[in-house]
Amino acid sequence: MGTSRWRGLVNSGPRRPRAFTQDTAQVLALDKKTRQLRYLPAGEGNGEMEPGVTWRDHVARGMLLCPAPDCGLPFGRVVAGGARRHHFAHRPGEGEHDDGTGPETLWHLSAKDVLARWAETHPDLADWTLHLDDTPITLPDGWRRPDVLAVSPDGIKVAFEVQYSALTGTDWKARHDFYAKAGVVDIWLFAHHGPQWRPATTQQRRRAELVWHDPDWAATVQLSGLHQTMLQHGVIPLWLDPTTQMVGTATTRVHPANTSPGERLWEDAAYTLPPRRVFPACHVAADPLEQCDVDLAARELLTPARRVHHEERDRLQEDEQVAQERAARVRACQEERTRRRRAAEQDKRRAIAARAAEEQAEREKREQEELRQKEEERAAAEARQKMPLAQQFPPVFEQEPPSPPKPPWWKPWQRRA
Ligand SMILES: [Zn+2]
Repeated sequence: MGTSRWRGLVNSGPRRPRAFTQDTAQVLALDKKTRQLRYLPAGEGNGEMEPGVTWRDHVARGMLLCPAPDCGLPFGRVVAGGARRHHFAHRPGEGEHDDGTGPETLWHLSAKDVLARWAETHPDLADWTLHLDDTPITLPDGWRRPDVLAVSPDGIKVAFEVQYSALTGTDWKARHDFYAKAGVVDIWLFAHHGPQWRPATTQQRRRAELVWHDPDWAATVQLSGLHQTMLQHGVIPLWLDPTTQMVGTATTRVHPANTSPGERLWEDAAYTLPPRRVFPACHVAADPLEQCDVDLAARELLTPARRVHHEERDRLQEDEQVAQERAARVRACQEERTRRRRAAEQDKRRAIAARAAEEQAEREKREQEELRQKEEERAAAEARQKMPLAQQFPPVFEQEPPSPPKPPWWKPWQRRA
């Protein structure tokens, strides 16, 4: 097989941390002094938080608090070492909340923080103003407060909604329409656990569109009614894993409709979830948040996976155009052939008709000739009837040929002769 487009475009670079593993490691801590959230990068548990101060020192001094709203206790230690991702942990017996079912709000908080940090450092959003949870978008018929709102110097607004709780498609549509009406680009990111993250069933994994799997696709999840509604409106569902700072893009490979027989379907087929088709599940392609951009024209978060989607779509459209042109050429050729055949048939028919007309004319001429002869004969017969019988039947009334004059009796010599 040829190299996958996906691999060529996305899998270049160093190995990334495994995302969307439902890891509940606490990687965010509230700095007691600055009241800012601090993010512990992967593998940095033994490293320095700031020059001269290690994470461990800071924790030991009780300066890093648990950001969970109903907790707020200082973390007891930094877990660094072994296969697990480095993270903060409470002392034994404290912080009963981080047992894997942790409060949604903590993840919500982490996600918002991760998003805000990303937006702050993104070169495209350098001079934009960021609002966290504090600036409502108002319209005459209501208001909404996005989780993160980025406002450009010239007034372009991008709202990031981090959705952790359950939401119906109808509600999402209403909110999406609200933002559209307010002229705000809305970007929706779902939780990597809870009601917005349901791993696909074995039966769903066996579906044709999910058979092909890229090793770097982090997971296979069910597409809920909400996700289906989004797809119908051309919005591809995204998930955010704040622990690894990865964004998941709903993706799958589907048969392009116009694949000709014999073509290898799974190698170069499309990588997108076309709208107006219902898929019960999809793969999730994980990309680092730092590689994502806001596409204002397409009104979406352009993840590397989405870039591949767009390229694939363009390529498919090109292929389709080529196929259409080829079909048009074939059709024109066939039409030309048909036209020629028809013309030839018509010529043949015309020739046959001409010959038939000729024959008809000859026949008529012959008939007229015969008629004329008959007429003549009849006229002759009539004329003959009017003649004296001697003329009508000459042989019957033919005169004896005059006998030679008899020699007179006085010329016996003549008689003798
Ligand atoms: Zn806690």
